[in-house]
Amino acid sequence: MNTRIRRRFNLLSRHGCAPCRYLLGVHSPAVIHHLVGLEYRATGKKADDMDTIPLCPNHHDGAHGIHHLGKKAWEKLYGPQSMWLERVNRWIEEGRAGDANTTY
Ligand SMILES: [Zn+2]
Ligand SMILES: [Zn+2]
Repeated sequence: MNTRIRRRFNLLSRHGCAPCRYLLGVHSPAVIHHLVGLEYRATGKKADDMDTIPLCPNHHDGAHGIHHLGKKAWEKLYGPQSMWLERVNRWIEEGRAGDANTTY
């Protein structure tokens, strides 16, 4: 894993679960989710390490998880993964990563 990716993953963990943070205003410890869907991977491969967002166990593979509900149902509930990717990337680019309490 190169430095750029390691830095990104650290920031994503610090960010906490994206839907929890935006929708509920809470900071939930998160795992790194590689976006699912054909547009995010070359045939048969996992999404690029830059196409990642932080999700808590509940929003990842729990009752409200994308791996539990499936991409379609999850995106219907929470919005497209691409939207979350943009939000999280903006947060990183704007250098707000240092403040765990930043709200949207
Ligand atoms: Zn969550
Ligand atoms: Zn995942």
